[in-house]
Amino acid sequence: MDSPNSGDAGAPEAGPGDEFAVIERLRVRFEAAARTRSAPGSPPPGDVWIGDDAAVVGPTSPGPVILATDLVVAGVHVDLELCALDDVGYKALMVSLSDLAAMGAAADYALVSIAAPPGTDLELLGAGAAEAADESGCTVVGGDLSGSPVLVVSTAVLGSLRGDPGLAPLVRSGARPGDRLFVTGALGGSAAGFRLLREGGAAEPPRSALARRHRRPVARLAEGALARESGATAAIDISDGLAADIRHLAEASGVGIVLDGVPVVDGATREEAISGGEDYELIIATGEPDRLVAAFESAGMRPPLALGHCTVRPGEYTLEGRPLPLGGWRHLF
Ligand SMILES: [Mg+2]
Repeated sequence: MDSPNSGDAGAPEAGPGDEFAVIERLRVRFEAAARTRSAPGSPPPGDVWIGDDAAVVGPTSPGPVILATDLVVAGVHVDLELCALDDVGYKALMVSLSDLAAMGAAADYALVSIAAPPGTDLELLGAGAAEAADESGCTVVGGDLSGSPVLVVSTAVLGSLRGDPGLAPLVRSGARPGDRLFVTGALGGSAAGFRLLREGGAAEPPRSALARRHRRPVARLAEGALARESGATAAIDISDGLAADIRHLAEASGVGIVLDGVPVVDGATREEAISGGEDYELIIATGEPDRLVAAFESAGMRPPLALGHCTVRPGEYTLEGRPLPLGGWRHLF
C-alpha cells in the first residue's frame, strides 16, 4: 500500500483513522483470512505481501497468468443505503473474481484499493473483502488507500490455470455454430433483491435470500474451471444481464443465439432474469454437452441449466421463438 503524494500534508497527526494504522489493521485482517486455508498465513520465503512498495509472489502454475480488474463506485454500482460496507468489500472483490471464473481460471492473489470519504469504516469494508478472498482461495497481497468525496473500491486479481496448463483459458470468442448453451444457475436474483431492498421488504426469508444475492454475489470459480476442463468452447459471466452478455459472447464468436427458455430465480420476474444483471452466473458454450453435465454431476455440483444453442447466423437472437429483448446495463460517457 503506497502512500499518496496528494494527501492532507497539513495534518500529519496519527490516529485510529490514520492511513498507516488502517493499513496495518487491514494487513492483519487479510493475513488472518489467508491463515484459515491450507496456504500459509504469512508470505512464503521470497514472497512480499502488504507493507512494501510492491508485492512479490511466486508462480502458482506453469501456465499463463490471468488478470482482471473491476471498479465499484458508490452511487453507480452500489447504494450505501441498501448495502453495508462489508457487503461492498465482498462484492467488489467477487466481481473481479467472477471475471477469472469466466476464463476458467483459479484465483491466486488480489490487490484491493479503496478511496473513501472521512469516517468510512475501512475495517468493515476490509472484512468483507477478506471473506470473499477466503471463500475464493486467494490472498490479498496489497492495494492502496486514499481520501475521496465518494467511495470507490478498485480490485485487481491474478489467477492461473489448474489441471492441464496446455488447455487454453475460456474466452468469449470460442463458441461455434451448433454449440449448446448452459448457465450455472437461475437468473434475476440480484435484480429482485435490489428491488426488494428499495421497497424495504427484504429482511425476512425468503426475500432476504434475494437481498443476499444482490449484496453478496458469488464468483463461480469451480464451475468455470470445471467447464474449461470438460470441453467447453466459450464462457462469459453475467454482469450486465443475460440479454446483453450473451450478445457479447455471440458477437465475439460470430454466431447467432437461439434460447429455448430462461431459468428464473424464485421471487424474481422474467424481465429481471433477462435484463437485470449482476447475477454473476456463467454462460457456457460447449460442443460436448453430455460431457459438461456429467463432469458437474460427478463433481457433486449443481448441474448447469440448458439455455439453447448457437447458430450459423450472426445477429440472430431469439428467445422462445421471439426476438430476444435488448437491454442490460451499459455506462455512458
Ligand atoms: Mg465479465
